[in-house]
Amino acid sequence: MRAAKVNQPGQMQMVEIPCPEPAPDEVLIRVMASGICGTDVHIFRGEYLGDYPVIPGHEFSGVVEAVGGRVTRFKAGDRVAVEPNIACDNCEACLNNRQNFCLNWSAVGVTRPGGMEQHTTAPEKVTFDIGDLSFEQAAFMEPLSCVLHGLERLGPDLADKVAILGAGPIGALLLQGIRAQGASRVTVVDKNAARVKFAGELGADETLTDLNALKMDYYDVVIDATGAIPVMSRSIDFARPGGKVLLFGVPPTGKEMSLEAFKIFRKGLTVLSSFTSVRNSYQALDLLRSGRIQVDRLVSHRLPLEEFQRGIEVIEQGSEDVKKVQILPNG
Ligand SMILES: [Zn+2]
Ligand SMILES: [Zn+2]
Repeated sequence: MRAAKVNQPGQMQMVEIPCPEPAPDEVLIRVMASGICGTDVHIFRGEYLGDYPVIPGHEFSGVVEAVGGRVTRFKAGDRVAVEPNIACDNCEACLNNRQNFCLNWSAVGVTRPGGMEQHTTAPEKVTFDIGDLSFEQAAFMEPLSCVLHGLERLGPDLADKVAILGAGPIGALLLQGIRAQGASRVTVVDKNAARVKFAGELGADETLTDLNALKMDYYDVVIDATGAIPVMSRSIDFARPGGKVLLFGVPPTGKEMSLEAFKIFRKGLTVLSSFTSVRNSYQALDLLRSGRIQVDRLVSHRLPLEEFQRGIEVIEQGSEDVKKVQILPNG
């Protein structure tokens, strides 16, 4: 089978490798849709966790081809999506319900091969039945799970006024999620005019293309969905006194951000971050199935496996029409 392998930062290679065998507690999946995430861009550029070489892809769905001897919930032919984070369920973090900080953490597409190959394996316990969702839709289970975990951490209040910085795929999911949680008004800002227009179609009450057009000291909640340090540094300016700031976008490793400490103190801000998710996959699937969170129009590019690197470059260039890029490893 074919796989897109990142040998070292910046260097991708298409390789022909044997189809993996599922371990007794694993399923073998024929990958049908595999989203490229900002995290994959960081992995490709050497700005994230994990070892090289790696076969990336942690947002994918597909069909079960075979199951290991101890698997009970799946059989060949089942349609599934994978939650990439694998917790040991037997360390101090896991036993305190902080599986995202498992001391023995591993992740599909980060520390072990992921969805950028034609067939991949995953433990049964991180595999979920997608029912009649399309493969494209189900490949959003993971990013949406992360968004839901972020919103759980944020704990938005009914009728919050919210500013979301960044209208990429994550901004679009955050927008819909926080509206579903009862925000009274959501403003979305992104320098990409096509993206903010799309945010308007997804229900944003106000869309802006200039960060400086946001009101100062105004919003109950400010969410960064860019991971861009200069934008993150501004996030505290727009929150009202007593407000909350959620730094959700993934920044590159090794870079510092400056925030005016006195401003945080004087405004009594709550500044939060969010790492991956904790048991949010069923919630994500339910919201996708309900139509409460729409992802169909979020996919802008569908590329063959050979074009994984081009997909990364398309995201980095960030032209007007780029939203989610998905790889279809089996055509
Ligand atoms: Zn991701
Ligand atoms: Zn653990």
